[in-house]
Amino acid sequence: AKSTGHNLYFVYENHMADNINAHLTLGGGLRKAIENEEFELHYQPKVALPDENVVGAEALIRWNHPDLGMVSPAKFIPLAEESGLILPLGEWVIRRACRQLQEWREKGYPAICLSVNLSSRQFMQADLVDMVQAILEETGVDPAYLELELTESMLMTDAKQSIEKLHSFRKLGLTLSIDDFGTGYSSLSYLKKFPIQTLKIDRSFIHDIGIDSDNDAIVKATIAMAKSLNLKVIAEGVEHRSQVNALGGYDCQEVQGYLYSKPLPSDDFVQFMQKQVGH
Ligand code: C2E
Ligand code: CA
Ligand code: CA
Ligand code: CA
Repeated sequence: AKSTGHNLYFVYENHMADNINAHLTLGGGLRKAIENEEFELHYQPKVALPDENVVGAEALIRWNHPDLGMVSPAKFIPLAEESGLILPLGEWVIRRACRQLQEWREKGYPAICLSVNLSSRQFMQADLVDMVQAILEETGVDPAYLELELTESMLMTDAKQSIEKLHSFRKLGLTLSIDDFGTGYSSLSYLKKFPIQTLKIDRSFIHDIGIDSDNDAIVKATIAMAKSLNLKVIAEGVEHRSQVNALGGYDCQEVQGYLYSKPLPSDDFVQFMQKQVGH
């Protein structure tokens, strides 16, 4: 028993050291990674119900690390937030997304709406609106095709200032979406004080559709209420046909999830869209 305890202790310590090493490696690598262009955006289709046509995509960042391979944003976004590198990284994401929209437009593909995720530190950045405006001008993107995904907690930190910022984005012509809806504490009626157009229901609610009847009641009521407030509703994390059937029955306008496709590199995403055209 003594030796087991001893071993466990070392296992634990090594594990901690691994975490610290990974932390330092990732954190130090982030700075260089921006210069070395190790990041890419992948695109996950959003489809409209009931026809299931692709009407949009969410841009999700990927880090193609020279030694570690693909690193998940769940790992490095928090590090980038802590170090402040999220600001240049976040700017890179918006520019890359806008350039992508222009590239698709120049190739004559049907126009789709592209959404990008903002982090909280990025949202608090004083010159965020000016930066986005400059990128729109530089790339020539029609702002109607760019959507920002924001979380409730991001908006609630300083509600008054958030509302102002959102109004500035609306003046630029962007669309605004609440991501992970239902995981925060805000009510829909309070959220309506914010000039938003879209609600994205968190995937934890979608996961439990058909499993838990209380959950279904919440999803159904959320969609109905959003509709009466003139908000578009999209469900994320859709993996099963039964979920689409239920969501369609509740009048959910759009869905996104592995059932249709995981996030794809741009070429694969274009192929996915083109396959849909004949369908
Ligand atoms: P999120 O914004 O909630 O993005 C949805 C996540 O769910 C993505 O993970 C996506 O790949 C995953 N997903 C999509 N469909 C399904 C499904 O059917 N089932 C399941 N289980 N998962 C699904 P990903 O790409 O690993 O991103 C994780 C989080 O990292 C994002 O959550 C977002 O908060 C953050 N993130 C990603 N890209 C960016 C970015 O460019 N900027 C910022 N600030 N955050 C980002
Ligand atoms: Ca999102
Ligand atoms: Ca989400
Ligand atoms: Ca999330």
